[in-house]
Amino acid sequence: MKHRRIYLDNNATTPLHPEVKNEMVEAMEMFGNPSSMHAYGREARANVEHARRIVASFIGAHEDELVFVGSGSEANNTVLSLFACASNLCIPGFKARQTIVTTRIEHPCVLETSQCLAHRGTTVRLLDVDRYGRVDMDQLKEFLTDDVGLVSVMTANNEIGTVQDIAAISRMAHEAGALMHTDAVQAFGKLPLHVDDLGVDFLTMSAHKIYGPKGIGALYVRKGTPYCPFIRGGHQEKGRRAGTENTLGIMGLAKAVEMRAAEMEDEAVRLAGMKEVLRKGIEERIDDVLFNGHPEHNMPNTLNVSFPGAEGEAILLYLDLEGIAVSTGSACASGSLDPSHVLLATGSDAERAHGSIRISMGRETTMEDIEYVLDVLPGVISKIRSMSTAYIKGGEHAAAE
Ligand SMILES: *Cc1c(COP(=O)(O)O)cnc(C)c1O
Repeated sequence: MKHRRIYLDNNATTPLHPEVKNEMVEAMEMFGNPSSMHAYGREARANVEHARRIVASFIGAHEDELVFVGSGSEANNTVLSLFACASNLCIPGFKARQTIVTTRIEHPCVLETSQCLAHRGTTVRLLDVDRYGRVDMDQLKEFLTDDVGLVSVMTANNEIGTVQDIAAISRMAHEAGALMHTDAVQAFGKLPLHVDDLGVDFLTMSAHKIYGPKGIGALYVRKGTPYCPFIRGGHQEKGRRAGTENTLGIMGLAKAVEMRAAEMEDEAVRLAGMKEVLRKGIEERIDDVLFNGHPEHNMPNTLNVSFPGAEGEAILLYLDLEGIAVSTGSACASGSLDPSHVLLATGSDAERAHGSIRISMGRETTMEDIEYVLDVLPGVISKIRSMSTAYIKGGEHAAAE
């Protein structure tokens, strides 16, 4: 019997949608540079601009407001770094207010860029979140002084799935004269997003979280918003992002968006149903579990749960042996075992943060997959807990390791 393999790490990346793959395979012969004026170039240009219209209209934007970039990370770096462009080189007359307000639970590409800017003189204020991961709105009000140039708050958190009230945050940012950015990578293509309803000036998207290719993203820039390119050089993307366009990636992104537009609504309902089965099943079959993230304002595909007394990494590896792929909040790309900054920000103690796993479902996840996880997980947790001398059932945990 073929060993069963179940992929439940869709917030990390997703498999290519078969239609996206077909589109890209067909387009692979097309090598023209979209900037060339001959027929090869014009063909590539036509495809890039067609893709731009599809992605822009999906979020209620005008095609001129969409910049294709190399990743979600690049889009976020671009927006934050705009505020370090104090030289007025790109935007004559524009002097950015030198304070950025963001949150403690952002993706590392926002947090690390903020830290870097702070070293260079930008003031960075990090918003606290409540125990469900939602932004402290009173603190936001307090932080919004007249030196704030940008507020950057992610739409949905990648680790715990919590969704913020971006429209309300945008209103407050604008009242204070600041620009508003949201990293919408996790929400894009999974929740309905409209830039005017959200009221944002910048919005970050990525293809590989929605069954598109890796290494391609898009940044929405509201018309008239000050802008400074992050990658300088050529005139591509109307001077907003130098570098020959990733034609294949751009076409793959647009195809992925088209597929999401057709599937998204039904998928959200289906995933929310499976998530509820999973949550209930875990609660019924395993003692002493703690769910992380907001119970309502949450992504339908994401379930983050802590098993005190069981290390997240151990759970991940044991599940992997059973063919189930999940992730922990704590293991970042560098392999660091620091507890998740997101869970710590929600007030989790280190043990709860260390004992967490993230199960993120996707379009290929079935109810059978969920049942298989519910069959396997209780045994894995009790095995790990029985090996852990520090774990005593009932919440009393010995201090010594
Ligand atoms: C994945 C992710 C990113 C980074 O996107 P890449 O295209 O992989 O660079 C940024 N923010 C969030 C919330 C993400 O989940």
